[in-house]
Amino acid sequence: MKSINPATEEVIETHEEHDEATVDARLDAAWDRFESWRETPISRREKLLAAAADVLREHSEEYATLMTEEMGKPVEQAVSEVEKCAWVCDYYAEHASEFLQDEHIGTVPGSKTYVSYEPIGPVLAVMPWNFPFWQVFRFAAPHITAGNVAVLKHAPNVFGCADAIASVFERAGYPDDVFTSLRIPAERVAGVIEDDRVRGVSLTGSTRAGRAVAETSGRELKPTVLELGGSDPFVVLDDAPLEATAKRAARARTQNNGQSCIAAKRFLVHEAVYDEFVERFTEEMRALTVGDPTDPETDVGPQARADLMETLHEQVTASVEAGATLRLGGEPLDRPGHYYPPTVLTDVPEDAPARTEELFGPVATVIRVEDEAEAVRVANDTPYGLGASVWTADAERGEALTTKLTAGNVAVNHVVASDPRVPFSGTKDSGYGTELSRHGIREFVNTKTVWVE
Ligand code: NDP
Repeated sequence: MKSINPATEEVIETHEEHDEATVDARLDAAWDRFESWRETPISRREKLLAAAADVLREHSEEYATLMTEEMGKPVEQAVSEVEKCAWVCDYYAEHASEFLQDEHIGTVPGSKTYVSYEPIGPVLAVMPWNFPFWQVFRFAAPHITAGNVAVLKHAPNVFGCADAIASVFERAGYPDDVFTSLRIPAERVAGVIEDDRVRGVSLTGSTRAGRAVAETSGRELKPTVLELGGSDPFVVLDDAPLEATAKRAARARTQNNGQSCIAAKRFLVHEAVYDEFVERFTEEMRALTVGDPTDPETDVGPQARADLMETLHEQVTASVEAGATLRLGGEPLDRPGHYYPPTVLTDVPEDAPARTEELFGPVATVIRVEDEAEAVRVANDTPYGLGASVWTADAERGEALTTKLTAGNVAVNHVVASDPRVPFSGTKDSGYGTELSRHGIREFVNTKTVWVE
């Protein structure tokens, strides 16, 4: 299993897959640790999480450099990602006990009735390469503080990040095996889910991977959280301030080299401002600096893997063949590394891949809509339901549209982003279950009713 630098195509490291005996030993150790970790007072678990936040901040350059090397994220964005991981650790270090305290409920006079939230055991996290630190911390910070232990199966191109994350917990002083990592390919995930020592599973990744994990965990009756793909609409109403909105649109599409589940992917623009928006937006996309992700001036680095860039290019080519107009980009750059330029497509037919599939790269589909009703229809005309944003000079008008958009996260005049304080979840093919906030920490707990008379 190889880690390949997507900017240079050089092999960074070759990792040996864990054999069955190693996986078995790690699951045993995880289960044994769970028995004592669940008894560790939550105040102690919170203190350790606060220490993990400090470790992340102290070593942010080191961890950011590793991410950039393994998956090509511009280094400034990688530093922000490490800082965000520290934030989620701080957040649950401050709030976990409040979110999980017993809830007393008045029932029969003289009886004591309450709900307690108890950990369930080792939880498997199947994670992708696009936010190799954030997605793991977003999972681990709440769930290990709730008293579960974490078993990570990371994407093979970021196994170095998986080791670095394990080092964060070690440096923070956690007991061994509260956080464990398995070096296994996707084909061996079902076997781990089926194992009695694993009590739940969380996956971030494609809808295809989500379905496979849901099938196994459904058969095994294990709770599952699925954070899958998206094709988020970015709705520009006729009163939106176009200069600022076009700038935000270009950033919303190209953050993380365009490889984000909640990146804006389809831009639905009111016909009254369509021409001007397309012009301004295309110029903003053209002005982005594409290049070496270790250079702090870079806006857009390489795509994380060769096959991902090839898929993206096939989607663009098929859309153009189906009748879309290519306004910008559209060809891989002729240089080493998997560089795909910011690309703008307009006039995309309804059944072309740029409208029906997730485009996981810096490619924007701009669609003309005649009014709000059509904007809503097109926004919801996707198998996905992750995020959506509305851009307007009238926040009330924007807010009125939020009830009509089928998505887990809807923003007005704000780029959709995850934030530890608010729930993050999808609907339809974007998955189910919630991450972050007080809701996220309750996904892998036994909600136990205690009734004493
Ligand atoms: P995958 O969904 O295939 O990979 C994400 C994680 O799931 C990896 O750890 C992967 O392991 C694992 N996985 C894949 N298939 C299975 C399976 N059948 N059973 C159990 N685990 C599985 O994403 P890719 O990296 O191949 O990217 C493909 C597309 O997925 C992207 O172009 C994008 O559209 C979408 N995607 C969405 C993400 C998001 O943030 N929502 C993140 C990443 C991708 P392994 O790598 O070993 O196969």
